[in-house]
Amino acid sequence: MEEKPKERANLIITCMDRRLNEALELRERNEMANTGMPTIVLRNAGGDVSNLKDSIREALLHYDVREARVAVHNDCGAMNDIANRKQGKAEKDRERDMTAMKYVAKNPEDLCKENLAVQQKTLTELVASLSPNTTVIADSLDVLHVPHPNGERKAAIILDSPERPYTHYSELASMLHTDTNNVYVIQYTGKDNMLPDISLIPKALGVKDITIFSTDKTRIKATELFEGINRQAFAPEINLRLMELVQQPARQNRVKLKG
Ligand SMILES: [Zn+2]
Repeated sequence: MEEKPKERANLIITCMDRRLNEALELRERNEMANTGMPTIVLRNAGGDVSNLKDSIREALLHYDVREARVAVHNDCGAMNDIANRKQGKAEKDRERDMTAMKYVAKNPEDLCKENLAVQQKTLTELVASLSPNTTVIADSLDVLHVPHPNGERKAAIILDSPERPYTHYSELASMLHTDTNNVYVIQYTGKDNMLPDISLIPKALGVKDITIFSTDKTRIKATELFEGINRQAFAPEINLRLMELVQQPARQNRVKLKG
C-alpha cells in the first residue's frame, strides 16, 4: 500500500511560562491563516528537549516538519530554580538536582543563554536521526513586557495528540476563569514523564491550582498522571482536577466562504 504524504506542520518546543501564551497563540493563528499549516507546540519547564523527546518523535513521525523551533525566554522560572540549586537555596529534589548538574552557569541570565545552546544542540541531534530534512531554529524571547494581571496563577497540563495540537490558550484560560497571562501550560503527547516538571509548579512557582486536560486519546494517561500527582508529597496543598480538552475545529472542516 502506498503511504499517504504527511501533512506539513511547524513545531515549537518552548517553556511553560504563562507570559508566552499570547505570542504562541497569535503565531499559531497567523500561520494557520497564512499558510494553512498547524503548529505543534510542546512545552515544559525551560523548554527542555530531552524531557520531551518522545513527544517530539511522535510529532516528527506524524507530520512533515520543515522547521523545528526551540524557544527559551528571559526571567525563566526553571533557570531561576537551577540558580537556586547551584547556590544551595532550593529544597532537595532528585530530578531537578540532576537537571541542575547539566548546567555550568550559576546566575539566571547566564543560565538562560546556556539553556538555549543546550536545547538547540539536543534538538539538532534528535532531529538529525529522525527527520534529516528538518531545520532547527533557536529563539530567545523577551517576556518582560507582558503585564502581570490580577487573579490567581493557575497551571494547565495538556495531554495532547499530535493530530490535534492545542494552542488556543485564551479559551483555556476562560475555562479556568482567569486571564491568559495567568496560566502556566505544560503540553505533551502523553508519552513522556512530566512529573518532575509538574512538581516545579507548586514548589518553585507557588501555584496551587492544577488542571489536567485530556483528549479522548489521552484520557487513560491523564488518569495515571492525576494519580501520580496525588501520590506526590505536595498533593494536599494543591487543588487538582481533571477536565476534557475542548477540541479545536477539525482543519478539513474549515468553512469555505461562498463567493
Ligand atoms: Zn521559562
